[in-house]
Amino acid sequence: MSESSSPPQITFVNGFILSDPNDPVAVPHGATGVSGNRLVAVNVPLDGKPPIDAIDCTGCLIMPGLVNAHTHAAMSLLRGLADDLPLDLWLHNHIFPAEAQHANPEFVRVGTELSALEMVLGGITTFADGYFHMEEAARASIRVGVRTVVAQGILDVPTPDAAADQWPARVERFLDRCPQHELVTPALFCHSPYLCGPETIRKARAIARTRGIPLFSHVAETRWELDEMTAKYRRLPVEHLAHLGVLGEGFVVVHAVHVSERERELLATTGTPVVHCPEANMKLASGACPVSDLLDKGVVVGIGTDGPASNNNLDLFEEMRSASFMAKLITEDPVALPATTLVRMATIDGARALGLDQEIGSLVPGKLADLIVVDFAKPHLTPVYDHCSHLVFSARASDVRDVMVNGRIVVRDRRCLTIDRQELMANARSLSSRIGVR
Ligand SMILES: [Zn+2]
Repeated sequence: MSESSSPPQITFVNGFILSDPNDPVAVPHGATGVSGNRLVAVNVPLDGKPPIDAIDCTGCLIMPGLVNAHTHAAMSLLRGLADDLPLDLWLHNHIFPAEAQHANPEFVRVGTELSALEMVLGGITTFADGYFHMEEAARASIRVGVRTVVAQGILDVPTPDAAADQWPARVERFLDRCPQHELVTPALFCHSPYLCGPETIRKARAIARTRGIPLFSHVAETRWELDEMTAKYRRLPVEHLAHLGVLGEGFVVVHAVHVSERERELLATTGTPVVHCPEANMKLASGACPVSDLLDKGVVVGIGTDGPASNNNLDLFEEMRSASFMAKLITEDPVALPATTLVRMATIDGARALGLDQEIGSLVPGKLADLIVVDFAKPHLTPVYDHCSHLVFSARASDVRDVMVNGRIVVRDRRCLTIDRQELMANARSLSSRIGVR
């Protein structure tokens, strides 16, 4: 238990508290206080009666908000447009053509709001987003009240917001116009080493380093990519990036499905974080990231849903369960990726991958108040022997009752307080009627 000096303005009482995902032991019957946007007390004994406006969490677990370390939020408007296809056909025959025609600022605004709403209702308080028109994505996330790392998409080919070779000007415009807001961290997103040439990746990394912001890239996602990279550069994808000198903290490798022993060592020795997206990898039959081995080597691994068009939901509880099952299946070891590891990956390790672990990812006085209340008074969560076990193997996004982001209650009793859900869904339906007709 711990506290700092400011008196709390909002207090959560009773319930269990998962205060440290590095040592995930749920501890009962205390009070957790928030003042402004910071935690001021975590699991302190109640001194007398609780404040009249305290939020009673009896039967619930208070824990750090979940960190979705990789998604493409606006793609909620393309969900279900094309499924059951390999990645290259899915991208080139369906997603890229639809984006070229429809992914304008309005699309990004509505799609990102829709995903941000889905995510916050499911306990995700921070998400890392990679797409286009990212000023719009930042504003959409601010409206919903979710913390976001907004990464402007970069490709050598034309994109919905830049002609071929015009990405540097687009990035400058994004960095100039991205709202300076406490919920927003700007970032860059090179789609992949097969759609971004060596100079593009080097230059993007130089800009990111100068600005002190993260750079994301899909890397080693499919066997097709390995063939492409070895034919073009005579190197495997991670070897290629090491050769370019871009690996290291702040370069976030998404997927790392097909990585050789040498590449795993490169990720570890350079301190390059990885984001694991098991459900998208399964749906697109890409393969399985060797998460257990990467963790053994000391790589920081967060967890992501990937875009809602390749998953097809943004439920990080489901993603934790899938990650654990996938690891057990591929290693034929039931001990692989236990629940406590998954809870860490979905909170503090995801935050570390994004460079935000000093501020979020755990419930410690002084840190930003991003927390969720999970309602365990449900048939599928009763009885409770081990809260972490239930979080990973039994809980669902819909079990999240309350959500606080940056000291503000965004969801209370399963209802989002920031945005008109019916109006937003009506806007999404209206846009979809244009997208479906191609
Ligand atoms: Zn992705």
